[in-house]
Amino acid sequence: MRFFQKIYSPYPYTYLHVAFVPLEGFSGMQYPGLILLNRLEPQRSGVLIHEIAHQWWYNMVGNNSIQEAWIHEGLAEYSPLLFYKHLYPDVYRAKTDRLARLGESIEVPIDLPLEKYGQESLYRQGVYARRCLFLAFIGEKGGRGEIAPGP
Ligand SMILES: [Zn+2]
Repeated sequence: MRFFQKIYSPYPYTYLHVAFVPLEGFSGMQYPGLILLNRLEPQRSGVLIHEIAHQWWYNMVGNNSIQEAWIHEGLAEYSPLLFYKHLYPDVYRAKTDRLARLGESIEVPIDLPLEKYGQESLYRQGVYARRCLFLAFIGEKGGRGEIAPGP
């Protein structure tokens, strides 16, 4: 929370609840001031950080989550990379290397409405991975050297 408040903006609430519940088909879900994590899966830091980032990218900066999921999901997926980059550079390097390799095989567009992807895996590749790779690429081109091939 402190990291995102520092780089994005102050958090508007005095609380953030995290509940571990059984979820079908996904690892987490965000609501204003509330995060649900799937208690049926092993807990991963990236999922928690992603869901925390949704307090900014979904809650405070909203968009049409059906037609433009790439906006908030891509930013929430990119946010853990920023967190790792500043606090755990080795994790950051490993994740960006993996993402760059994955990006070489992804050809689906970033900005389709949900129903146009057809398959969950294609949706995840376009909206989450490719968009995240694009943001990482742009972030690195902002003056800190190239980390990944372009999207
Ligand atoms: Zn998300």
